[in-house]
Amino acid sequence: MSEPIRIVIVGGVAGGATAAARARRLSESASIVVLERGPYVSFANCGLPYHVGGEIADRKALLLQTPESLRARHNLDVRVRSEVTAIHRDRKSVSVRRLDDGQTYEEPYDKLILSTGAAPIRPPLPGIDHNRIFTLRTLPDMDRIKSAADKARDAIVIGGGFIGLEMAENLRRRGLAVTLVELLDQVMPPLDREMAGPVAEALRAHGVDLLLGDAVESFSDRAGRPTARLKSGRELEADVVILSIGVRPETTLAKEAGLTLGERGALVVNEHMQTSDPDIYAVGDSVLTTDFVTGAAALIPLAGPANRQGRIAAENALGRPTRYRGSQGTSIVRVFNLAVAMTGASEKSLRKAGIDFAKVYLHPTHHAGYFPGAVQMSIKLLFSGKDGRVLGAQIVGGDGVDKRIDVLSAAIQARLTVFDLEEMDLAYAPQFGSAKDPINMAGFVAANSLRGDVRIAHADALDGALLLDVRTNAEHQAGTIPGSVLIPIDELRRRAGELPKDRPIIAYCAVGIRGYTAARILQQLGFDVRNLSGGFKTYRMFHPA
Ligand code: FAD
Repeated sequence: MSEPIRIVIVGGVAGGATAAARARRLSESASIVVLERGPYVSFANCGLPYHVGGEIADRKALLLQTPESLRARHNLDVRVRSEVTAIHRDRKSVSVRRLDDGQTYEEPYDKLILSTGAAPIRPPLPGIDHNRIFTLRTLPDMDRIKSAADKARDAIVIGGGFIGLEMAENLRRRGLAVTLVELLDQVMPPLDREMAGPVAEALRAHGVDLLLGDAVESFSDRAGRPTARLKSGRELEADVVILSIGVRPETTLAKEAGLTLGERGALVVNEHMQTSDPDIYAVGDSVLTTDFVTGAAALIPLAGPANRQGRIAAENALGRPTRYRGSQGTSIVRVFNLAVAMTGASEKSLRKAGIDFAKVYLHPTHHAGYFPGAVQMSIKLLFSGKDGRVLGAQIVGGDGVDKRIDVLSAAIQARLTVFDLEEMDLAYAPQFGSAKDPINMAGFVAANSLRGDVRIAHADALDGALLLDVRTNAEHQAGTIPGSVLIPIDELRRRAGELPKDRPIIAYCAVGIRGYTAARILQQLGFDVRNLSGGFKTYRMFHPA
């Protein structure tokens, strides 16, 4: 009888724990060892900010599994506080240091799965080692932040990505005064800039002092409080500093073992999650994957890909040749009252990849407008101007954003087009959606433009056209695009003669619906007319008041 296969997994949280459980479900006979440096396995890293803020009150809720529960359920040999210090590819073993007693031993493998994740970036700035400057990755990090926050009045959060925004919200929730510093001129760097505007507004409306376009150059200490000196010359002082400027793949082990690394030191893997050594697989935040839409190499530190890749690595290690399809970066974050979500390519990433695209904006309500509680959402849909294939989407709103982004994510993966979105058969009752769901609406708007039923203009390219406001006089008085001419939609058929036929016209209304009607009327009367996509609301996202 052949020896049971020995699978060793380095890292026992998202990707690692999933790989271990999947491997066991596929093989009762395999020897499966999980080596985890930290004191916990399979904890809910995504929940950490919410325990700091108090929304997840019970710390134990974050511990999804323990070594004991994993042994009982899956017969896994899980060793915490066990750090892998070297991979010996020649003799197929790893060196393990037991952090409790400093002893080192070798553990042999037939197949090795690396799920070592990514570490928060800590740039070598003067004063960075101050004991009140924290990063958040593990439960012990969370405990340290929580206990510092218990005694704090104010905090500085550095970095306006997912974790920075979640921490800003949670520290505000605890009543701390929060200043958020972001190097770029927008929060949430993966979003296109205009879509990040409402997020910045929400932060400010909830009392976060937001400093965009500035960066920390050094830290110092003032009576025990860390002080940050910014590039602008400004100085900020607080009881707590959270550093959340991104993560770096943790690949030292792999590098020292001579495995091929790519961009930003991430591990190169094939679609079977196999590294340059066929007996070593790697998954999660430490690997480069392929962007599903642009085909570019992508570093996407999210829990969904880590879990799915962990499953695929285990399957391949056990001889089932499944493949990873690539990452769409589908993600969502709550920022106070807002849900902010994206999937697929952004306008920025399409431009970078040199891919032609078209786009539309719309601002539908999440369920029937006549049913109490309808909340508006802003959708940006990116698609191919040639065949209508859906390339990406970003949505900012409240309830219902999660559902729409997931439908669009599925559409991208199935390579559907905007014509398919028109036809999607989605659940409707007034509490949940509309007979023309926001997804159908996005399809209608995009498909109308592709079919030539209406030409559209965008708020970042209005030059040279006559701007025609077709809203009411009251709406016009409350705010308008400079230089606009007002002809309310209901007067347009009668007053069309006031408009020039020898100049392009861009019609606009509040969100693009009346503008569309206006464009249809004028187009059929022989005018050179376009509708401003998403109307004045989108204009304001590009040009805040
Ligand atoms: P991890 O889950 O980080 O696991 C890696 C493990 O490997 C670590 O525990 C580490 O100790 C161990 N390790 C590393 N080197 C060694 C070694 N040499 N020996 C032994 N062990 C080692 N993603 C989302 O999609 N949605 C969210 O809402 C979300 N929120 C997040 C909030 C926070 C605060 C954080 C930190 C992350 C969040 N993420 C979120 C990201 C998500 O948690 C990661 O993408 C995911 O955990 C990556 O899985 P992984 O297995 O690659 O790495």
